[in-house]
Amino acid sequence: MVNRMETRAVPKTLTLIIASGNFHKIREFKAMLKPFTAIDILSLIDFPYYVPPEETGLTFEENATLKAVHAATALKHWVIADDSGLVVPALGGAPGVYSARFAGKDATNADNRKKLLDSMQHLLDDDRCAYYECWIVLASPQGVKKAVRGLCEGKVLTQERGGGGFGYDPLFVKHEYNKSFAELEESVKNRISHRRKAFDKIMPTIESLVAES
Ligand code: IMP
Repeated sequence: MVNRMETRAVPKTLTLIIASGNFHKIREFKAMLKPFTAIDILSLIDFPYYVPPEETGLTFEENATLKAVHAATALKHWVIADDSGLVVPALGGAPGVYSARFAGKDATNADNRKKLLDSMQHLLDDDRCAYYECWIVLASPQGVKKAVRGLCEGKVLTQERGGGGFGYDPLFVKHEYNKSFAELEESVKNRISHRRKAFDKIMPTIESLVAES
């Protein structure tokens, strides 16, 4: 049970904005940042008038950098931004950086999953191998402090399973697991995901920012 008195008593020494308006990503990041009780964690939902930049990069790293630097400069705080997606080598790397708009500019997650299933109809066994890739960039108004990458390797199912997660989660099973990401408890996904792998690499830098602040 949360001890409200204790939670309130911790002085916040650093403000960190998660440069995303994606409710699921924000929830995953907030769960990973929970041990950092000295950080005041905000997201783009707290800045409704901020307009994020177009994701014009050709790589996850470029897009994560674009989002982090733009938000840190405009909002004048430390920012972490993530750019991520699903990569299917047998499809030449698609959906890749276009994961969010695989089935078109205004596509829903369900539209994107349907397009993925249709594109992979002819693919069997190892050709259904895929990985999630996540880049996290930490930036201040002075520029990029650190950029890291996390991968999570698995397979694409032939039909959706599970109601949790977001995006391609109902279609993705990590190697050595039987459940799709949408069937796993969120706390389990948060321990093994591409986002967690990247987050673990950036955590020491966030710790040092807290120590210096
Ligand atoms: P971004 O917000 O521009 O980085 O786009 C991310 C897109 O990649 C999402 O809309 C999803 O389609 C996909 N994606 C990234 N991370 C995940 C994940 O953890 N689960 C499922 N889909 C993801």
